[in-house]
Amino acid sequence: MSIVIYAESAEGKFKKIAFELASYAKKVAESLGTTVTAVSINTQDVSELSKYGVDKVLKVTNDKLVGFSAKAYADVIQQAARKENASVVVLSSTTDSIYLAPLVAVALEAGFASNVVGLPESYLPFQVRRTAFSNKAFNSTEISSDIKIIGLAKNSYGIFENTSNMATEDFNPTVSENDFGIKVESVEKGSGKVSIADADIVVSGGRGLKGPENWGMIEELAEVLGAATACSKPVSDLDWRPHSEHVGQTGKPVASNLYIAVGISGAIQHIAGINSSKVKVVINSDPEAPFFKVADYGIVGDAFEVVPHLIEKLKAF
Ligand code: FAD
Repeated sequence: MSIVIYAESAEGKFKKIAFELASYAKKVAESLGTTVTAVSINTQDVSELSKYGVDKVLKVTNDKLVGFSAKAYADVIQQAARKENASVVVLSSTTDSIYLAPLVAVALEAGFASNVVGLPESYLPFQVRRTAFSNKAFNSTEISSDIKIIGLAKNSYGIFENTSNMATEDFNPTVSENDFGIKVESVEKGSGKVSIADADIVVSGGRGLKGPENWGMIEELAEVLGAATACSKPVSDLDWRPHSEHVGQTGKPVASNLYIAVGISGAIQHIAGINSSKVKVVINSDPEAPFFKVADYGIVGDAFEVVPHLIEKLKAF
């Protein structure tokens, strides 16, 4: 019996979420008296996982698996879970894993709970806490199947160092040609260097910025903070920014540690997608803007005065 995690990577390097999954799985494994096995697909250096409590890594190196293919990746993960006799499989809540999890669940005849936050509420019965209705409510879900699949919400547990004596094993699962019937290529076209999904900090602009020519200050603020840039839906609809930056209910979800909204009103559909961010800051000239109701910090002011001032102060910091 072990806990199996899928340690996602991009361009050969682990994503931050892989370390959160490892930290989470370690804690679950300690409670169940078992170990953590990570599955890595085409990641160059797997040693980093040992910092977060992983006991064994199954290292898959296969040219066919360069580029995400949901069916093929799900096949790899379910084979790893069977090999390790997994009682719990932990996946993340990234776009890739949301696609993978139901396929893995069907293959393993396992119950799957998505949007899980925090450690299991109880182990017997196995009960987890999940967010519902765009993070506005929580529910407790019992998974009664022998194998349990958890889709952990990003930034809901945290990353904790816990150095382990990790074993690395080359793993060569069978990958069938049929697995490649559908191949999804995800192309990140973000303007910032940091991707929205992995960012600790996101600086987001709305229609209050008046036009695409004013995005220089958003990019500069993002650069100073090492943040990703994002935008509201109308901004991408107007082609001021690429669609890959659109966040919210119909765009990308954001679960960063810090989300800074500049000239964004705070419509319910926008908030639904960014609500899991830990600290929300709004800069808006209208003190009645709904965003102030959900923000942790707010600045009532003209973005064209506040943002350059903020950049100046941060640079001097
Ligand atoms: P606005 O609502 O026009 O707000 C602009 C804000 O800028 C105002 O609050 C204003 O006070 C402020 N402002 C103006 N000038 C300045 C200045 N100089 N300095 C500082 N502040 C200033 N929206 C999303 O973002 N994401 C989604 O995923 C999404 N999905 C949707 C799905 C559906 C089905 C529907 C119906 C709508 C959806 N929307 C979504 C649209 C959403 O309802 C809002 O219309 C949108 O979020 C508003 O964008 P905004 O805040 O940039 O613009």
